Amino acid sequence: MALTEFSLIQRFFTQQAVQNSSTQMGIGDDCALLSFPAGYQLAVTTDTMVENVHFFAGADPKTLGHKLLAVNLSDLASMGAKPVSVTLALTLPEVNEAWLHAFSKGFLALAEKYQVDLIGGDTTSGPLTLTVQAMGLVPTGQALLRSKAKPGDLIYLTGSLGEAGLGLKINQGYVCAQPEQALQHFNQPEPQVKAGLALLGLANACIDLSDGLASDLGHILERSQVGACVDWVSLPLSTEVLTYIQDTGDWSMPLTAGDDYELCFTIPPEHVNALTIPCTQIGVIESQPGLRIKKSGIIQPFSSKGYEHFS
Ligand code: ADP
Ligand code: MG
Repeated sequence: MALTEFSLIQRFFTQQAVQNSSTQMGIGDDCALLSFPAGYQLAVTTDTMVENVHFFAGADPKTLGHKLLAVNLSDLASMGAKPVSVTLALTLPEVNEAWLHAFSKGFLALAEKYQVDLIGGDTTSGPLTLTVQAMGLVPTGQALLRSKAKPGDLIYLTGSLGEAGLGLKINQGYVCAQPEQALQHFNQPEPQVKAGLALLGLANACIDLSDGLASDLGHILERSQVGACVDWVSLPLSTEVLTYIQDTGDWSMPLTAGDDYELCFTIPPEHVNALTIPCTQIGVIESQPGLRIKKSGIIQPFSSKGYEHFS
């Protein structure tokens, strides 16, 4: 791919003017150059999407471009970091201009929405693999960590749960009367960047929901050495997700399905009145380790995990 690599990058990935004041120099040299204001820490994350593992072969490239950036911005959001720039490593089986055009459109539209600069990357030939590294800024010492939940904190969620899970079921053949919302969440999740920023100074702990509530809240519980009780009836579920549960009996789907990219955070009760974002309380942090679900008046341990690679 060496011959066409630079023209490919020029053509598809350098259309955007610099949007972020941190960017001193973007694509074109051996490195990008960034400068950051005093009093901030750099939050850095990376996520890879592999064909046939994270997305179906033949998946819509515009949607893929959006989702690849969205899952990375979601990690920044969960720490309360403001996104500034990203790098993009592309491994492509072939140079398909229509594919690259659509992919870059989806990617750069979301970048523009959050004023994130694409500052560099790498382009290689091989099985379709998409990697982003994202960088964001958070006021020093204020990042929202998994390890800071305290007994007595209330557990909250942004958005609703199980939408992406339902979107996956629809892709696998489940017939839903109103599939649009679920498919939108599954295909084009919205990173909760504003919510993450609004939680700074209020929330104790935060995580984004990539693997499923049980699994991701489980990370907060382990890292904070606490437990939780979640009340099933308080889960924010759409009519379509409720109908799916009635149809199938699969009541644990919203707890185990991944890809929602909402934020799950814990907050001391005295901070709740200061919340400025739409969110729903789903449970409380307790000192007894483990995750418990209250359903039909019965509290039972919930051990089933979300999707884990290599399991
Ligand atoms: P080098 O050989 O020094 O690594 P490359 O030829 O790989 O340089 O890349 C040239 C420039 O294009 C660099 O600034 C690099 O960051 C950028 N770049 C390469 N691939 C991508 C990509 N997929 N998206 C954005 N920028 C890229
Ligand atoms: Mg290179």
